[in-house]
Amino acid sequence: MTTVLVTGGAGFLGSHLCDYLLARDHDVICVDNFFTGRKENIRHLIGNPRFEVIRHDIVHPLFVEADQIFNLACPASPKAYQHNPIKTIKTSTVGMVNVLGLAKRCHARVLHTSTSEVYGDPLIHPQTEEYWGHVNPIGPRSCYDEGKRVAESLCINYHVSHDVGVRIIRIFNTYGPRMAPDDGRVISNFILQALRGEPITIYGDGEQTRSFCYVSDLIEGMYRMMNQETDIGPINLGNPVENSMLELAEKILEITGSSSKLVYEELPKDDPQRRCPDITKARSVLDWEPVVDLKSGLTSTIDYYRTRLATNAK
Ligand code: NAD
Ligand code: UDP
Repeated sequence: MTTVLVTGGAGFLGSHLCDYLLARDHDVICVDNFFTGRKENIRHLIGNPRFEVIRHDIVHPLFVEADQIFNLACPASPKAYQHNPIKTIKTSTVGMVNVLGLAKRCHARVLHTSTSEVYGDPLIHPQTEEYWGHVNPIGPRSCYDEGKRVAESLCINYHVSHDVGVRIIRIFNTYGPRMAPDDGRVISNFILQALRGEPITIYGDGEQTRSFCYVSDLIEGMYRMMNQETDIGPINLGNPVENSMLELAEKILEITGSSSKLVYEELPKDDPQRRCPDITKARSVLDWEPVVDLKSGLTSTIDYYRTRLATNAK
């Protein structure tokens, strides 16, 4: 049994990770500044003697003791990370230094959640870990993409210079219950629009692709990565099944039975045209691959939003 610090633990992925760790008898310290995270995501854990919450911003140093640190603190949706781009950069750089400094002091291992966004608008398909990416360093997504690239560099350099144990995963679009309904990500947008009978907003022509991984698959991969001994990564974690936004909208309309119409809106600047992970490395190092298909994952996610709408939860 270990004490595990989860930064960003009240967010979408972080709260599922806290559940997973507690179910495996770890002590969990959840650190969050509640920018995009919600108390509701972790309310069911309050009262568990192995669970603690600290309201803290990782841009400031933190002094706690832990054996392992999962670093998830960072807004993930374009709408959220572009809200205050300088703060987003600080979280991925100054915040990362604080997390790595804590790890150095405690001799803790750090798993850092990097992103497929380090590949930018990729020129090779599917994306392998060897690809260095195609990122616009001054575009509207750069606060996130470049921040995450610096964070990867910090991880490697703390490992080389200070022998800190690090693990880096590059997460591709992941979805599921507890995604913030108003964060502008495509799956939450489309499901809520379908359930409310509002138009489905397709940005651009809808032919751009993403590969959607269900949250339980991702958390399993993340845990395996932290607890394997040999490979610091980066390792891609995502579902290699690629879908266009039009295909996604059709699936959501079919499952919800909604008669919402499609409307076409302007494509955001620098929106990647295609994205699909090569997960050969995750398969061999972690013996991991996603098992939840898009239809069942969407069905669970739709049930979650239906319940939220019915109970008028914020
Ligand atoms: P999320 O926005 O739901 O969670 C992020 C959490 O971090 C929130 O609880 C937020 O309040 C907290 N946070 C933000 N800045 C902070 C700071 N400075 N100090 C302390 N807490 C802070 O997003 P998510 O989807 O759960 O993503 C979690 C991590 O995984 C992020 O680092 C994200 O970049 C990465 N990731 C997610 C995806 C995805 O598809 N969900 C894809 C790639 C990478
Ligand atoms: N998108 C869309 N309609 C929406 C929200 C998003 O067509 O209402 C598109 C967006 O332009 C992008 C894709 O869906 O091509 C995924 O967007 P998201 O913000 O979920 O993730 P990211 O772009 O960071 O992968």
